[in-house]
Amino acid sequence: MTPHRTDEAARLASGHVSPARLLASIEALAAFGTRPDHGVDRPALSATDFKARRHLIERAYALGCTVTTDACANLFMRRAGTEDLAPVMTGSHIDTQPTGGRLDGCYGVLAGIECIAALNDAGVSTRRPLEVVAWTNEEGTRFQPGAMGSSAFVDPALLERYGRAADTSGTTLADALDAHRRTFPGLAMRAEQDRAHAFIELHIEQGPQLELANVPLGVVSGIQGVRWYALTCKGVAAHAGTTPMHARHDAMTLAIALGTEIETFATALGREHTRVTFGRWSVTPNSINTIASEVTFTVDFRHPDADVLAAFDHRLAQCAARHRVATESLFSHEPVRFDDALIAHLGDACAAQGGRMLTLTSGAFHDAIYLAKHCPTAMLFVPSRGGISHNPNEATDDDHLVLGTRALAHALAALCNES
Ligand SMILES: [Zn+2]
Repeated sequence: MTPHRTDEAARLASGHVSPARLLASIEALAAFGTRPDHGVDRPALSATDFKARRHLIERAYALGCTVTTDACANLFMRRAGTEDLAPVMTGSHIDTQPTGGRLDGCYGVLAGIECIAALNDAGVSTRRPLEVVAWTNEEGTRFQPGAMGSSAFVDPALLERYGRAADTSGTTLADALDAHRRTFPGLAMRAEQDRAHAFIELHIEQGPQLELANVPLGVVSGIQGVRWYALTCKGVAAHAGTTPMHARHDAMTLAIALGTEIETFATALGREHTRVTFGRWSVTPNSINTIASEVTFTVDFRHPDADVLAAFDHRLAQCAARHRVATESLFSHEPVRFDDALIAHLGDACAAQGGRMLTLTSGAFHDAIYLAKHCPTAMLFVPSRGGISHNPNEATDDDHLVLGTRALAHALAALCNES
């Protein structure tokens, strides 16, 4: 191993990414929990997940890495640096939706491991260690909430509450973490104070923007914020056939009018960036020939601008008061803006691949939203065919998977040589 100039190290690392090895590694990981429809079902901290983790750990050892874990069973695979400096981190998650694809999360972890293999093949040593992370339970389908591993890494106090979260069979996260410790007794604990120099998460877009623009790489400038509300409209149950229209108190009529009003002001406030969804409805008594006495429906509003989110909160409260409707806030997260220097750095890494790129905001949540509180953070996207994700048909062109990994290797190698 020889030290290289930073730009040379970056060029060598991206040039030594092996398309065949990368694509084979995606197939190999997908075998753990593979579904008959070619999707993947790999719940966090399940027996299947443990087998997949063992597979990754063995690969990491074969590449000369050290492997550690932490209190939330995050997996850290580290390639040593030549100096005693904070590591550069990359990675994502390997748990999936019950009817998930083979790329969501896994691509980011496997691309990170491919970057380590490429650095090894190129004979490049770096000043800083490079650490590939698989964050525990990002999807939040077995244990709620999602992104437990990354949020607990940034704020370990969260683990006390997370530990009590139970899956549908009554197994708690604390039980599952015990099982992880018993399965991997040889894994040392990562030093808690060991902060990262930077975090880059490479992920499939899970939406259509890159494909529609016919652009192979996306630099993600941030993640939009979200509000979740439940609104409860009251009426009076009565006979659908005998009650004149003017004498009704119909909770559903009110709910539909409210939905229209909310969609109208949400769109006016946020314009083309507005995402508003009325996804869950519960109707009492939910009978074909009875006027609804109560309707509760949810509102999911997302926008990249914190001022627009605040204005939405205000308008929703006004609207609910005017109609005497009860509102409950279920969840709220402010938008996250990624690190400007890192965004520029990723732009350079994409430009070095000769591919066109787009700067965009992520519509979905990712582990990076929490890492952004810990260290300079940014994300890279590759296109999702048809914008489809959380689906067995999730796919990305091989060329795009390779290009994303080359851009990642370029960016990581340069960051690993920063002082
Ligand atoms: Zn994901």
